[in-house]
Amino acid sequence: MKFGTKAIHAGVFPDPSTGAIMTPIFQTSTFVQEAPGKHKGYEYARTQNPTRSQLQANIAALENAKHGFCFSSGMGAIDTLIKLFSPGDEIICTNDLYGGTYRIFTKVFQNYGLKFHFIGMEDVANIENYVTAHTKLIWIETPTNPTLKIIDIAGVAAIAKKHNILLGVDNTFASPYLQTPMDLGADIVMHSLTKYMAGHSDVVMGALVVNDDKLAERIAFFQNACGATPGPQDSFLVLRGIKTLHLRMQRHCENGAVIAHFLRNHPKVDKVYWPGFADHPNHAIAKQQMRDFGGMMSFSLKGDHMEDAMKVLSGTHLFSLAESLGGVESLIGHPASMTHASIPREERLKSGVTDTLIRLSVGVEDVEDLIADLEKALNLI
Ligand SMILES: *Cc1c(COP(=O)(O)O)cnc(C)c1O
Repeated sequence: MKFGTKAIHAGVFPDPSTGAIMTPIFQTSTFVQEAPGKHKGYEYARTQNPTRSQLQANIAALENAKHGFCFSSGMGAIDTLIKLFSPGDEIICTNDLYGGTYRIFTKVFQNYGLKFHFIGMEDVANIENYVTAHTKLIWIETPTNPTLKIIDIAGVAAIAKKHNILLGVDNTFASPYLQTPMDLGADIVMHSLTKYMAGHSDVVMGALVVNDDKLAERIAFFQNACGATPGPQDSFLVLRGIKTLHLRMQRHCENGAVIAHFLRNHPKVDKVYWPGFADHPNHAIAKQQMRDFGGMMSFSLKGDHMEDAMKVLSGTHLFSLAESLGGVESLIGHPASMTHASIPREERLKSGVTDTLIRLSVGVEDVEDLIADLEKALNLI
């Protein structure tokens, strides 16, 4: 099956009791047993819920993986995964991680004796400088947030395999429509389903997928033991959102390309960060590992005056000023004061997060209207 067909059909089936074509919302905490231990595979809804089971199967299929697991948030997925490791274990990560991931690694798990290395991976050879006998996991994001750096997933996977280390990829920014890291050698793919997967800014949820049966068994155990599981209503919303993932992503990409070029040609704009440009430092890798370039991008303003950025940020109407990304509606954000506010200025400047860096999550509206909105806001400077 090809991607769009899988988005609609994989893992789901008409309800056997009624023929309902949509997966029912099994709003129940427990399941009646005929005799102790004699049941239809469902006992208690933290462990298993049929709505969640179909969503998990669907996501696994989209990522070309065998096993899927859903969690009450993307952070719940990461929290559960990292609990598989033990004090003394080391984890090597990309250095411009999602803020919440950086926070849980440094403020929570470091206190439990795990050691994290945050490093640049645009040149994958750098990873080997940090591998020790204790390294258990390499954790990457690509494209990165907010400067849209591209990491060579197959290149990182080769290093992980050589040293017998697991490779985990946070695939939230790309979605499986744009890239499937399992096909490039990843062991674990993680999602904030809150973003492109659900796609309608109406639910918070996360997922992990893996191929290895033993790893799957351990994640299933931790998913149930730790309990960060989603409810059936939210599972239904994500399943419904995914049915149009391929259509939405196609439009996100089309709009993204038009807006990236518009910004690049605008006299008030300095740099535009978007992997679709031929002169993006890792454009060749993006072309190889991604199906298209997506609707996430950032740009900075000439002169780098914070007050200019503020004018643009409050001057758009269709682009709403908000955290998050990947929904049908366009969003605009200011990493320096929003997502990256906790990082010291000197540090964030080094990674390109200047005072006027503005991030866009380009939605699926008509692109002419989006451009008019940005043009009007840029003219306020
Ligand atoms: C949003 C996000 C997360 C966290 O997911 P939640 O669903 O908000 O808990 C993790 N990684 C990336 C890249 C994200 O954008």
